[in-house]
Amino acid sequence: MDEKRLEFFRSLLHQQLKELIEEATKTVNDMTITKGEFPDPTDRASWESDRSFLLRIRERERKLITKIREALARIDEETFGICEQCGDEISDKRLEARPVTTLCIKCKEEQEHLEKKGIS
Ligand SMILES: [Zn+2]
Repeated sequence: MDEKRLEFFRSLLHQQLKELIEEATKTVNDMTITKGEFPDPTDRASWESDRSFLLRIRERERKLITKIREALARIDEETFGICEQCGDEISDKRLEARPVTTLCIKCKEEQEHLEKKGIS
């Protein structure tokens, strides 16, 4: 992938990371304000057991933040956009829709197929 494309994805990922962290901060603040009231038992469990910021926020956000950071690291290592399964290039269309992906569409479909069958 050329420099320009990498820069495009780098800023896209940075933007997503920023939004995610802002959103997560809001969530943590909301939880602080309404302390004692936890609508979701899953939230309550993570809130009570974890201390650091990253662990306070919802698991879904936490996972996504990790994925975005990994994608940024792959940009630095120049392995971004390459399928970790088969080594093929991941299509731009797929990367633009989901820049944190590590699998090409073919491998992703295969993985989902295996998951459905309960093998993977
Ligand atoms: Zn692949």
